[in-house]
Amino acid sequence: MLKSWLVRARQGHRTVPYPGPLPALPERLRGLPVLQPEKCRSGCAECVAACPTGALSSGPEGLRLDLGRCLFCGECEAACPDGAVRFTNDPRMAARRRDDLVLGGDGPRLAAALGDESRRLFGRSLRLRVVSAGGCNGCEVEVNVLNTIVFDLGRFGIQFVASPRHADGLLITGPVTRNMEHALRKTWEAVPGPRLVIAVGACAISGGPYAGHPEQLDGAAGVVPVDLFVPGCPPHPLGILDGLPRLLGRASST
Ligand code: SF4
Ligand code: SF4
Repeated sequence: MLKSWLVRARQGHRTVPYPGPLPALPERLRGLPVLQPEKCRSGCAECVAACPTGALSSGPEGLRLDLGRCLFCGECEAACPDGAVRFTNDPRMAARRRDDLVLGGDGPRLAAALGDESRRLFGRSLRLRVVSAGGCNGCEVEVNVLNTIVFDLGRFGIQFVASPRHADGLLITGPVTRNMEHALRKTWEAVPGPRLVIAVGACAISGGPYAGHPEQLDGAAGVVPVDLFVPGCPPHPLGILDGLPRLLGRASST
């Protein structure tokens, strides 16, 4: 027993102290992009041409980047010799509305908290059923690590449960393949209302790399109403960990 205590004292706390200042993250991590359209050369659209998902566009109002379609592949950054598109390593991007994921010159609009009644219902205890609706499983891997001691999602009263009957909402990954449409709808109907839906990853938001394929539905919002969008391909766990407490009013809305 004494030995266990000594090991515990030597190891200290491993859980990321979050919400709060972001912990040190690798410089190579591609998080929130920054657009600087003033650096664009006239008539140049090389970053737009390099984007595999059409997430970037350029028009009279300058560059636009849809975080919900972005795969964070870095092709646009590499294509621009002038640095008009640059990726930071900030993983915080979750938003309540789909439109809030489109970056212009004004930066991201991070998720605001639910209303008072929803916060009263879900703020201290939120049970989510994960639905893997296609995709590559990359997002599920990042969702799974939220249960580890490093991220410890349970300290916010948020847990994943096995049955929609025991859940307050769904966390959906994948573009929603046609084979999963019926299952997703039935699972959503099995969650007692009021219920929340969290779409995690580019697939669940827009179809991601599968967008436009006839065998999938370009994301969850076409099947069920979505309350929180978490961009990424896949999102960093801190991106998910930031979005969920924001939704519950447990983190700043700025
Ligand atoms: S990082 Fe995003 S916006 Fe840039 S090329 Fe890749 S998918 Fe397109
Ligand atoms: S968003 Fe990216 S990582 Fe997540 S399931 Fe789709 S392809 Fe995989």
